[in-house]
Amino acid sequence: MKNWLLQRVDLTPNRLAVRFNAQELTFKELNQRVQKLVRKLGAPLAAEQRVAIITPNNLDGYLLILAVQQLGKTIVFLNRRLSQRELAYQLQDAAIRVLIQDDDYELRFTGISQLTFSAIKALPEQACHAVATFDLDDVATIMYTSGTTGNPKGVMQTFGNHFYSAIGSALNLGMLPGDVWIAAVPLFHISGFSIMTKSLIYGMGVSLYDHFDVDAINTELQNGQASTISVVPVMLKNMLAALPANTTYHPNFRTVLLGGGPTDMPTLERASKLGVAIVQSYGMTETASQVVALAGEDAARKLGSVGKPLFPVEIRVKTAADAKTGRVQVKSPTLTVGYLNNEAKYQAAFDDGWFDTGDMGWFDEEGYLYIQGREGDMISSGGENVFPDEIESAYAALPEIETIAVAGVPDEKWGAVPVAYIKFVPGQSLTQATLRAFGRQELAHFKVPAKFVTVTDFPRTASGKLQRHLLAEQSFEIIP
Ligand code: ATP
Ligand code: MG
Repeated sequence: MKNWLLQRVDLTPNRLAVRFNAQELTFKELNQRVQKLVRKLGAPLAAEQRVAIITPNNLDGYLLILAVQQLGKTIVFLNRRLSQRELAYQLQDAAIRVLIQDDDYELRFTGISQLTFSAIKALPEQACHAVATFDLDDVATIMYTSGTTGNPKGVMQTFGNHFYSAIGSALNLGMLPGDVWIAAVPLFHISGFSIMTKSLIYGMGVSLYDHFDVDAINTELQNGQASTISVVPVMLKNMLAALPANTTYHPNFRTVLLGGGPTDMPTLERASKLGVAIVQSYGMTETASQVVALAGEDAARKLGSVGKPLFPVEIRVKTAADAKTGRVQVKSPTLTVGYLNNEAKYQAAFDDGWFDTGDMGWFDEEGYLYIQGREGDMISSGGENVFPDEIESAYAALPEIETIAVAGVPDEKWGAVPVAYIKFVPGQSLTQATLRAFGRQELAHFKVPAKFVTVTDFPRTASGKLQRHLLAEQSFEIIP
């Protein structure tokens, strides 16, 4: 295919490409800025096949990501919040020699040339051209998984993966000229980067945020300046909580694309009452973003489901004989072509040509998919399979609870039992007996946590995902 940025500039040069703080750039202006960086970066990156980038969501970072892509290099996205040790592992794994980083980034790595944004801007411009084409089979990006369950894996995503991801999403959500998508999720994750890709492929504007500024975002959405936003569940919860009473969003705002983890029902119901259209979705770094989504018209009727496969995607749930739930497996043109330096792990994920997501779920009689959680988080208790997500979601209805996480602990009688780790809203609490009684009313008896404890902190990855397998190592106090 023709280089996506150059193609986009030929097609719709005057449309909004990106907005950041008070600045707005059309595709033509964006391209001028990017090509200038291409001429500066051509020489220092000449010998590199892969280039790593560390940046917060800001305009310079946005332009530099595109510039590196224009030079035909594979972009290795690094998470700014990772520790020195974690990043050193990824830099070495990807054999990185040049790292592009924002001026405020402090860590230093030996044997790596670290180019700050200011240093790049000060470089002389030299004759150097962008690549003419993007080959769909070429690896465009490498993203490390969150590392929720272990060491992060370098997921290789091709231009073809990103292309089909953008197309599959558009066929589900639809698109209109003038659409603007809010990117307040990190550009270095597939959730954020996929918005950049869609911008080029759709000719759509991006409204970029360097942090989740809930009031600014609510204002933008109430003023009708954006059509779509990607959020993880906690962001949606905060947006709805901060929305001024008796108001809702502008009709230009069509979709909240929600994904990345399970959502509690009270939040979904709240959104539904406010007339806010939530598109639940399910996907992973390995599938270059969402592969299953719940179309708007089904949102209310199928609350809690992640929906049906996007058009280019096939999903199956592989169950053991007469079980309803099983392993969620995928075939998709968006599926990663491999884990960097770990072909064995990649091959091991395939089951008869299907890629095993590691997640468990089930289809209802109409073919809607429900995700129960990760296989590794499943608690086998007295012959029943218990999923922490379901228990957490039920307890999320209690206003006294700020955060709850459930994990299995070994038990002599039952094999394992669920234990609930709770952080109460400041000044609030509930007794062990009340918590148990609530569970007995809402859940099957074997799902009610055997013990309720309080913690002050939850073990999370740098991207904020809960690491359940580390919960038991937290210090806790038993709730009286
Ligand atoms: P690692 O693979 O290193 O442990 P990770 O799986 O957390 O990290 P991601 O690729 O960012 O890294 O996350 C994908 C996972 O997030 C999915 O496999 C699934 O477990 C979870 N997930 C995504 N969307 C949903 C959803 N709508 N409901 C429930 N879980 C979801
Ligand atoms: Mg994973």
